[in-house]
Amino acid sequence: MDVKLRNYVYGQWVEGAGEGVALTDPCTGETLARVSSEGIDVGRALAHARQTGGAALRALTYEARAAMLAAIAEVLAAKRAEYFEISLRNSGATEADAGFDVDGAIFTLKSYARAGKALGAARHLKEGARVALAKSEAFQGQHFLRPLTGAAVFINAFNFPAWGLWEKAAPALLAGVPVLAKPATPTAWLAQRMVEDVVAAGILPEGAMSIVCGGARDLLDHVTECDVVSFTGSADTAARLRTHPNVVARSVRLNVEADSVNAAILGPDAVSGSAEFELAVKEIVREMTIKAGQKCTAIRRILAPAGIARALGEAVAGKLAACKVGNPRSEGVRVGPLVSRAQQAAAFEGLAKLREDCEVVFGADPAFAPVDADPAVSAFVQPTLLYCDKGLGARHVHDVEVFGPVATIVPYVGTAEAIALARRGGGSLVASVYSGNAEFLAELVPAIAELHGRILVVDAAVGAQHTGHGNVMPNCLHGGPGRAGGGEELGGLRALALYHRRHVVQGGPALLDALEREAADAALLGA
Ligand code: NAP
Repeated sequence: MDVKLRNYVYGQWVEGAGEGVALTDPCTGETLARVSSEGIDVGRALAHARQTGGAALRALTYEARAAMLAAIAEVLAAKRAEYFEISLRNSGATEADAGFDVDGAIFTLKSYARAGKALGAARHLKEGARVALAKSEAFQGQHFLRPLTGAAVFINAFNFPAWGLWEKAAPALLAGVPVLAKPATPTAWLAQRMVEDVVAAGILPEGAMSIVCGGARDLLDHVTECDVVSFTGSADTAARLRTHPNVVARSVRLNVEADSVNAAILGPDAVSGSAEFELAVKEIVREMTIKAGQKCTAIRRILAPAGIARALGEAVAGKLAACKVGNPRSEGVRVGPLVSRAQQAAAFEGLAKLREDCEVVFGADPAFAPVDADPAVSAFVQPTLLYCDKGLGARHVHDVEVFGPVATIVPYVGTAEAIALARRGGGSLVASVYSGNAEFLAELVPAIAELHGRILVVDAAVGAQHTGHGNVMPNCLHGGPGRAGGGEELGGLRALALYHRRHVVQGGPALLDALEREAADAALLGA
């Protein structure tokens, strides 16, 4: 197959002009499909989304839109096997990798379908109590949140073509805001197919969902003050978006989810043989291998007390040695390729930088050969564990995110150094802490909280019940400060805030009473 995937804009399936960009199989190098956004009138697509899709969505109640999300989840669940096949071919995903993306998308949609019911038959939100503004009750204030009348524009990263689309679309659609998705080019096939299936199922009103595959071209020239741009990708692209003249001039709301050098932190009690040590080893190996390390939340730095750092290295290396790396079509393969040769080259470049600071504990073997794949055309990176004894003095370890199966152990002495190292990441999506030592946790957790969107604490009592370092739960906040982009997503109904505008109306009680009709309590967003 080598077809050109069509774009869905202004209620039509439109093929982009020209030859397009090839989407390839990262195991074989085979061209699978092409995408092109050339010739697509993005301004018209956005206008159609706002005027047709937005108006129709906002005419519905929150609970009616929640029901649509449930119906979308059903459509996607019915086609799960096809999506796994596309993930295998276009992303080199193992069954577990595809599950992370596809099942994660379905789970998130179902979660918002359930949560959205709580907002009932309302169409906007009222926040807090009346504010007294005068001596009598004749003049008061009331805060409200109204859905935006613009479009939600998603510019997504290549590593989660399914989850990345639906974790954003679920809260946007629930809020009543139409979606225009621009998936990352290398893995656009899965997102495009899912949109095709949802459009064919006729669940959403016309204009509620559009997709443009290929380059973003002049997309940002057409966004307005009533739109939201939600970006996931590299810090470099994020910087370009933030400074785009139209985005700046119109104060377009922009949410950024970028990269980070997330840490796993072992406490002083996580000594060899302890439950916390074993739980940390298991999670580090999982994080390095699932999706071949191509997760924004993956563990990149492992901060370990100096006394156990070497033993930890040996334990992780032992498990990595048992992981079969190669073509996921081959029996027993646990780690697949990166999504493209370009990503492989970027990972090798980053790895070379890290090695300036580090010794190799496992991997980076020049003789490495993936199972059942030709190294000359495939995009594999051997899982690689590094050890850096330079602490805060390391030049690259705290800055370079190798977007692949690579992590670095950094030994520390004392809680203050562990805190300083974790904070040196400059803002991360997540840190996981493996300790049951109450004193250590009481010092460390508040000291790193400011620079982390999520902190996962695992001890013997939590055991294997935890949801995972890299696993983003729809009912918990996702996003991180600083280099992680400063964005916020998910967190249950909190995510709806991005698609509403808060304002206060000051006036008489009769007017405020009227405006409060059909409003749900915004406190439900944090419930
Ligand atoms: P990227 O190169 O920044 O691309 C991200 C998206 O931006 C793609 O859709 C890309 O389109 C688009 N883009 C590129 N230049 C643009 C421009 N000038 N104007 C508008 N759009 C533009 O990132 P990536 O390589 O796909 O993703 C990997 C990175 O994403 C990693 O660093 C990872 O940590 C981060 N990530 C973060 C999260 C999170 O939730 N925080 C989740 C996943 C990934 P094309 O593909 O067509 O170039």
